[in-house]
Amino acid sequence: MIQTTHKQKILISACLTGEKVRYNGTDLLIEHPLLKQWHRNGRLVSVCPEVTGGMSTPRAPAEIINGNGKTVLSRQTTVVNNIGKDVTQAFILGAQKTLQIAKENHCIAAILTERSPSCGSNMIYDGNFSRQRIKGMGVTTALLEQHNIRVFNQEQIEQLALYLNP
Ligand code: SF4
Repeated sequence: MIQTTHKQKILISACLTGEKVRYNGTDLLIEHPLLKQWHRNGRLVSVCPEVTGGMSTPRAPAEIINGNGKTVLSRQTTVVNNIGKDVTQAFILGAQKTLQIAKENHCIAAILTERSPSCGSNMIYDGNFSRQRIKGMGVTTALLEQHNIRVFNQEQIEQLALYLNP
């Protein structure tokens, strides 16, 4: 069994904890023994960057156009929803507030939802709303990684445990 220390806090996407904060009002609850253990130990800090950035639930789905979280943060590309509204500022604000929450809680790593334009870490959608995936990270992930908070996705919980306690 993988043991981890009790001090280190872990940021987690709110939708993975069962909060119905996704664009369509659903959650993506994951059941995993390590997550349950960390939750019992008070080590999980749950946040939804998009809601924290001021977006409502439900909301129109959004994708990064011709770029990724890094290019959004450097203002080279935008985030647009499927009815054509530019929501870049809300995504950047959500990322900044999430970083602040992570720092205030001394989170050293995060488990964020893969493929989200905020929370994705390896894959996002290509900006055409065609469900086509491309390599890249979301806006919040990019900002957290810039501040040395390592991001894992929901399929990488064992890797995170090893990262916390190599
Ligand atoms: S922004 Fe992140 S936490 Fe919020 S619903 Fe999307 S994937 Fe989940």
